[in-house]
Amino acid sequence: MSSEILGFPGIKDEYDIIIVGAGPAGALAAREAAKKGASVLVLDRRKELGAPVRCGEGLGAKYPEKFGIKLSPGAISAHINGARVIAPNLKDDIIIRTPETKGFVLDRKVFDKDLAKDAARAGASIFSKAEVYDLIQEGGKVKGVKVNFDGGKREVRSKIVIAADGAESVIARLAGMKDGVSTLYDTDYGMEYEMANVKLEENGKDFSDLIELFFGREWAPRGYTWIFPKGKDVANVGVGIGGLEAPNAIHYLHKFLADPRMKYRLGNASIIATKGGAIPVCQPLKEFVKDGFMVTGTAAHQVDPIHGGGIGLALNAGRLAGIVAGECALENKVDAASLDRYKKIWYEEEWGKFGKRLALRKVLEKMNDDDFNSILSTINDKDIDLVLEGKFAPVVQKVLVKRPQLLKVLTVLVNL
Ligand SMILES: Cc1cc2nc3c(=O)[nH]c(=O)nc-3n(C[C@H](O)[C@H](O)[C@H](O)COP(=O)(O)OP(=O)(O)OC[C@H]3O[C@@H](n4cnc5c(N)ncnc54)[C@H](O)[C@@H]3O)c2cc1C
Repeated sequence: MSSEILGFPGIKDEYDIIIVGAGPAGALAAREAAKKGASVLVLDRRKELGAPVRCGEGLGAKYPEKFGIKLSPGAISAHINGARVIAPNLKDDIIIRTPETKGFVLDRKVFDKDLAKDAARAGASIFSKAEVYDLIQEGGKVKGVKVNFDGGKREVRSKIVIAADGAESVIARLAGMKDGVSTLYDTDYGMEYEMANVKLEENGKDFSDLIELFFGREWAPRGYTWIFPKGKDVANVGVGIGGLEAPNAIHYLHKFLADPRMKYRLGNASIIATKGGAIPVCQPLKEFVKDGFMVTGTAAHQVDPIHGGGIGLALNAGRLAGIVAGECALENKVDAASLDRYKKIWYEEEWGKFGKRLALRKVLEKMNDDDFNSILSTINDKDIDLVLEGKFAPVVQKVLVKRPQLLKVLTVLVNL
């Protein structure tokens, strides 16, 4: 039965496509599928889309334009012109200013809502405070969802369900995808404070248009600590570490904040928001689709394995899933083989870079702080640019001259 209240059109009994989650992946999937002419329902368990924020909010400059997103002024907290990579000794650093490191620190409370508004304008119906707790499955095929909405449980049917429910996704697992939940080892955990009265400069150097990444096991085992500016003296200060260390995330963050070498910049800062969450940093799911079912964005583990950035990849994956879902729903071809076109296109567009970064992650995991200190005092911004492009050989050669003991660890990169 439809959930209409006093004539307000509530959730109907049936749609072409139901999308679980209205983050970047779900919103773009909804926008594209609705643009194709499919009837689209988006359900999100949050009371307010985008809130609470669980993200460093960094996004590369290329994404909004590439995916037809017009950033509203409120969605941008800071314009970023480069990245500063700092060695474990907190002394040696490299500043990179390339097109790849240009971007924004967003306000995701605004950004996510803006994406949802675009999807609604394209024709999708979106409901917040609507938690999907199960799938309707018949004969091994997904046929809709079971949702807690408006104080009651109800079933809604569809030709296709798209799981875009983020890092803690359970929907893919409910659909029978056994690798739907990443292992603790393959998950990073992020803990972050939004802080005010932060100094975004030191010793005459201005860092206000740079994202800063502090590497080293001392600060963040298998990860990094970050300062992402969000205004004149406001920043997201966070740490992302390997899942096996997850309970210690706050310990590492406080250790960084309390280090005497950070006193000038962070010693008088106040915490105005506390954020945290999981980030899968592994292979994408083996399968992206089943009969009547697709999974996209961070729920499909489409996250950069090096820095844990998932917004840009979620936007593209959601977009591709939405285009394919829209076309397949209208043609009434919702079997796995038809929907799998989404996976094929995703691999064509993303795998070249993704696969190399996965290999790089495994290499970085084997390095200690002395290795990092040595490397960051050897290479320069152009070398980092080459690494970001996946051109490892010339940089490996340079590093090995100073640190030959890394030969075995780094050889794998040359052979990619
Ligand atoms: C601490 C931290 C820092 C990060 N920093 C960055 C960064 O700086 N840059 C970057 O690019 N990425 C960053 N990420 C990763 C980034 O936040 C995610 O990869 C990105 O949000 C993925 O988008 P998505 O649409 O796939 O999922 P999400 O944005 O997680 O959206 C999923 C949505 O699904 C909803 N949902 C979940 N389950 C259900 C359910 N059962 N029923 C209904 N709705 C449901 C949720 O409420 C949510 O709105 C960070 C992550 C963390 C944890």
